[in-house]
Amino acid sequence: MIIMKTPIVEIDGDEMTRVLWTLVKDTLIKPFVDLKTEYYDLGLKNRDDTNDTVTAEAAYAIKRRGVGVKCATITSNKERKLEYNLKRLHPSPNATIRAILDGTVFRKPITVSCIKPSVSTWKKPIVIGRHAYGDVYKNAELLIPGPGKVELVYTGEDDSEEMRILVADMKGAGVAQGIYNTDESIKNFARSCFLYAIDEKIPVWFATKDTISKTYDGRFKELFSEVYETEFKASCEEAGVHYFYTLIDDAVARVVKGEGGFLWACKNYDGDVMSDMIASASGSLAMMTSVLVSPSGAVEYEAAHGTVQQHYYKYLKGEKTSTNPVALIFAWTGALAKRGELDNTPELTAFAKKLESAVLQTIEEGDMTGDLVRLASPAPAKTHNSWEFVDAIAKRLA
Ligand code: NAP
Ligand code: MG
Repeated sequence: MIIMKTPIVEIDGDEMTRVLWTLVKDTLIKPFVDLKTEYYDLGLKNRDDTNDTVTAEAAYAIKRRGVGVKCATITSNKERKLEYNLKRLHPSPNATIRAILDGTVFRKPITVSCIKPSVSTWKKPIVIGRHAYGDVYKNAELLIPGPGKVELVYTGEDDSEEMRILVADMKGAGVAQGIYNTDESIKNFARSCFLYAIDEKIPVWFATKDTISKTYDGRFKELFSEVYETEFKASCEEAGVHYFYTLIDDAVARVVKGEGGFLWACKNYDGDVMSDMIASASGSLAMMTSVLVSPSGAVEYEAAHGTVQQHYYKYLKGEKTSTNPVALIFAWTGALAKRGELDNTPELTAFAKKLESAVLQTIEEGDMTGDLVRLASPAPAKTHNSWEFVDAIAKRLA
């Protein structure tokens, strides 16, 4: 039995992923690890019962403990309010946690030899780090009715300073948009990216359109490189992590010709678009992990997919669904490995790596869930349900 020094912050969730959460813990972790967790129930009912205070408590616990693992959770809407008889609608738990940890989300595909990415040159996963703050996601837009001036105006807090620039002298109707970002947010984004890359020992690529947007994108380029030079150069060199800056179009061209195996730090919109491209080209949503890295170094691991609602309704009717637990398992192994590293308990980290290898081996030997059966070549003879699949992993692990 492997002993843990410090508990992991465990955040339980909803629907099919909640069912798999217990299955994974009971079958693949607890028989081998004397698991210590600080448990928060973010199931929708409990969030409602606690007026959502439990979500913020969980986030502060991650800040305090340094490592968390989270199950998928329902973001409530009108239908869910009826379904769960909620007092009110609550904000997305991930948004609440992200706001408290001020972190960046990194998405990494889990690759197996029997599922080939759509891009034939890719040999290693491409990780996307999306700067999830500002730009077009916090814009101000105007529908321009007719001829007139569009200007960008800045007024200093005490009215002492004013800056004004002409955007366009409109000759007719059109549209206009104002966007912004902050130095602090850009620097924290860069910090999270370098922390992640040092952890994973992979190069960092950052790309913007600074040749066109000399001030706005130019500022991103400047701050990113400043954070590298002043805060991370030494530790990056020590870890063998290389920082590479290029134009966004050059980056895209290199990505589809390259081998992968790097962190692609993306501005907000680029990250939104490119993460879906990488996910779809890599295979299945159920093979995508996600980790939130706070600039303070605290980390939260989760699966990139949601609660797999439709499978849950079938499960409630008694069906043993073929829901893929791989991303959930990798959320746990990510957290256990990190805890082992921070606590200097290498046997815990080694166990996490062993479990990951057992998962990959199980799939590569032809035992997998339905979503992967559809993608694998050669196609396996049998589709496992989640319970059979987890048992097949447990056999290899033992
Ligand atoms: P979803 O749960 O990701 O599922 C969408 C579809 O993707 C499923 O119907 C299934 O397709 C496939 N899929 C996803 N994960 C799978 C897995 N592990 N194994 C096999 N197939 C998988 O997204 P959703 O249905 O749009 O959202 C359901 C709930 O999740 C919502 O209430 C949403 O708020 C929440 N959500 C939470 C998070 C989070 O906590 N991080 C993220 C996204 C969504 P088939 O039906 O074709 O098998
Ligand atoms: Mg998107």
